[in-house]
Amino acid sequence: MNQSQNQILNQIPSIPFIDLKTQQELIRSNVDLAIQKVLDHGQYIMGPEVHELEKQLSSFCGAKHVISCANGTDALGIALMAKNVGPGDAIFVPSFTFAATAEVVAWTGATPIFIDSHPDTYNMDPRSLEIGIHTAKKLGLRPSAIIPVDLFGQPADYDAIQAIANEYHLWILADGAQSFGAKYKDKYVGNIGEIATTSFFPAKPLGCYGDGGAIFTNDDEIAAIIKSLRVHGQGTDKYDNVRIGMNGRLDTIQAAILIEKLKIFNKEIEHRQFIADLYNKELKNIVQIPHVLENVSSVWAQYTIRLPKKCNRSKLMTDLKAFGIPSMIYYVKPLHLQKAYQTYPVAGQQSLEICDVLSEDVLSLPMSGYIDEKSALYVTEYLKMLLNSN
Ligand SMILES: *Cc1c(COP(=O)(O)O)cnc(C)c1O
Repeated sequence: MNQSQNQILNQIPSIPFIDLKTQQELIRSNVDLAIQKVLDHGQYIMGPEVHELEKQLSSFCGAKHVISCANGTDALGIALMAKNVGPGDAIFVPSFTFAATAEVVAWTGATPIFIDSHPDTYNMDPRSLEIGIHTAKKLGLRPSAIIPVDLFGQPADYDAIQAIANEYHLWILADGAQSFGAKYKDKYVGNIGEIATTSFFPAKPLGCYGDGGAIFTNDDEIAAIIKSLRVHGQGTDKYDNVRIGMNGRLDTIQAAILIEKLKIFNKEIEHRQFIADLYNKELKNIVQIPHVLENVSSVWAQYTIRLPKKCNRSKLMTDLKAFGIPSMIYYVKPLHLQKAYQTYPVAGQQSLEICDVLSEDVLSLPMSGYIDEKSALYVTEYLKMLLNSN
């Protein structure tokens, strides 16, 4: 390697796809103290931090009841259990999502019906939802609930989905695993749908240092059932078992960490919006940028573009990587095409057209509360250059 090549290599930045390290450096001393406090009091299970976190999450999003739990998948599963979902029920889920959304439906013995996505927002398409309801009826299933996913941080089209839910007497379980902190009109995620859930997986917008999740509802009765399900279907205590439950608690240490993260969360959301605006401005003429509905905000769990048809995506990703720019594909394969789920029905007769094309042309760019303006501009400059020569 000659000197000038070396120089170029030395200038290649290392931009993290999601920058958790900078955040940790910022809050490390407070997190250390918070963990120390838990070690001192020793209430590792359901300690005071768990209740404090639930209180703070409730005042953040406005939901009356917040029940923390072990992860975002359990959160969804517990919600379905609380509503007695089971065999014969049809539950409508997007196909273009993370597997957990459909997995929990299969747990209960109910049938997930896969719904197509909107090409601009990537979220569940209400028109396809309506088709899916008819598909379920034709199959002799009982249309029961809708699980809209707030993909990449943007709440789904809840007004349209709620109207369909009302018409067909369905209830809504809002999967906000990627969207806690976002707003649909005047409501925060967590305060939308009959039950809502989120995940505190480290890479989510509000993440802990391990697994974690939460369930939200304004319904007193459902909240009481969820609390019981979280601890082995407990009645007066966990040795009084009134229903089949599970061990679904959030660790006290994770709650303590989340309390520290919540303090800086609004500032991080603002920064994510700033970076998304910058990406939008720089990229709007060369790729399809993400579309956010009017009066809706995204927390930008991912900033996901759609590449032009002629673009060779895998080559582009390799070339970006050579310049120090990581990129990811969420999701390479929609769920209805995955081996584990391909026997479940899709809305309508054929495959899900939009999911299929999305999985072929989406690309997610580096995003977090800590990517600086200079790095974001570096990403867009090289992306533009590489798209020109791709
Ligand atoms: C991450 C995620 C989940 C599951 O959350 P875990 O905490 O990882 O179990 C569920 N749904 C969606 C849409 C997700 O992105």
